[in-house]
Amino acid sequence: MRKVAIYGKGGIGKSTTTQNTVAGLAQMGKKIMVVGCDPKADSTRLLLGGLAQKSVLDSLREEGEDVELKNIRKKGYGDTWCVESGGPEPGVGCAGRGIITAINMLESLGAYEESEALDYAFYDVLGDVVCGGFAMPIRDGKAEEIYIVCSGEMMAMYAANNICKGIMKFAQSGSVRLGGLICNSRAVDNEKEMIEELAKMLGTHMIYFVPRDNDVQRAEINRKTVIEWNPDVPQADHYRGLAKAIDQNTNFVIPKPLEIEQLEKLLMDFGLMN
Ligand code: ADP
Ligand code: MG
Repeated sequence: MRKVAIYGKGGIGKSTTTQNTVAGLAQMGKKIMVVGCDPKADSTRLLLGGLAQKSVLDSLREEGEDVELKNIRKKGYGDTWCVESGGPEPGVGCAGRGIITAINMLESLGAYEESEALDYAFYDVLGDVVCGGFAMPIRDGKAEEIYIVCSGEMMAMYAANNICKGIMKFAQSGSVRLGGLICNSRAVDNEKEMIEELAKMLGTHMIYFVPRDNDVQRAEINRKTVIEWNPDVPQADHYRGLAKAIDQNTNFVIPKPLEIEQLEKLLMDFGLMN
């Protein structure tokens, strides 16, 4: 089983990209479990056709230790298993620890080793590793293959670089590796070239360039991935392309984070090109 985590700045498109890519992988016949690791618990909405999932932490709070697998795991589009770790009550406790509690719970209930073996577990993780809690899935070896969603906007690139610092820290003693940057376009000038260059400087590659497209919103309003909502639109092709690129990826590295001056120079070089 490949243990994949999707990281990136809040609002960059992690949950959207994860679910659409998972839908693409499901169409390829892969067996997948998606674990939402954001207290918002909206990581599986498009696969489930709504916010239908009770989070692991909520179940633990309400039912004590007798949580059953069927209460925290639901089948979504393409037979994908969907789980939301949930989070602490706002302002109390560490969300990162909640994620580990949830994953440990899934492990002890046997969610990873059932009759139908999983090809992939996907963790959709909030944050940019400023808080150590969000590095938990990497630190504890729950996720081994990281993709960072970013765009050509300064803060998204800054967060991507910070995440690389977190990966580097744990990669030396563990098996976690960076699999690439996913550029989720914000239609910034020279964005594709800039993210390709950023990836190169970090020692990785841009695995896919996902265009910005309103069909994402149209599908979202219908509570569906683009692939389920309308498999014939160009954006569905892009998500299938990203799914294939991840499935065939062999480029796994320990990233080399940049100094802030290098990052600023990159932004200036590409921003001033026109
Ligand atoms: P995150 O999980 O990183 O916080 P989301 O996946 O919730 O971010 O994305 C935030 C919003 O951005 C979503 O509501 C979605 O409509 C929009 N979005 C994401 N990717 C695209 C895209 N490629 N084209 C258009 N809209 C997008
Ligand atoms: Mg999200």
